[in-house]
Amino acid sequence: MLDDIDRILFHEQTILSRLDALADEITDAYRGEELTVVAVLNGSLIFAADLLRRIPLPLRLDCLRVASYHGGTESTGTVTFHQLNLPDVRGRHVLVLDDILDSGRTLHAICARLRGESPASVRVGVLLRKAKVRAEELDADFVGFEIGDEFVVGYGLDYAERYRNLPFVGVLRREVFEVAGG
Ligand code: 5GP
Ligand code: MG
Repeated sequence: MLDDIDRILFHEQTILSRLDALADEITDAYRGEELTVVAVLNGSLIFAADLLRRIPLPLRLDCLRVASYHGGTESTGTVTFHQLNLPDVRGRHVLVLDDILDSGRTLHAICARLRGESPASVRVGVLLRKAKVRAEELDADFVGFEIGDEFVVGYGLDYAERYRNLPFVGVLRREVFEVAGG
């Protein structure tokens, strides 16, 4: 598994230090409010677990499963919701957490759906944000790290459902997905 990594972008300790600061930002932003976190599975699982334990506010946690990649390295442009019932967010301050903001399609679709449920507010937090022109006009309110436009795995992010358990974020070697035809 480690042989498939071209280079490491963020080591575990770097990520956790950054999460300390990000959690402080979020805590300041929601102080005195009841927060509802909607974690987008599977990618945000590890990010959300580490981040939320650093936020000393009363909060609710819901999860949402969507798919926009279907195993490749390019977004398909369609976002599929894997559950019929959305979390109950009426009148609540919602923070959507995802692993990475790439084209923006996934988070755009999720935020649109949630806004339809009359929440008090909807904001977005991501571990990673790719520096690029996005297909959808959407930005994140809380960002862990800016990265270039390349395909990364680890710390929750997968390629064909692998590598999520790597403790760091790294760039996958091109041969890995070129051979697989992703
Ligand atoms: P978007 O809809 O913004 O194009 O893509 C968001 C989703 O695509 C993310 O939640 C993530 O699952 C996947 N994604 C986008 N870029 C990458 C990447 O560099 N690596 C991995 N592993 N997944 C990515
Ligand atoms: Mg994914």
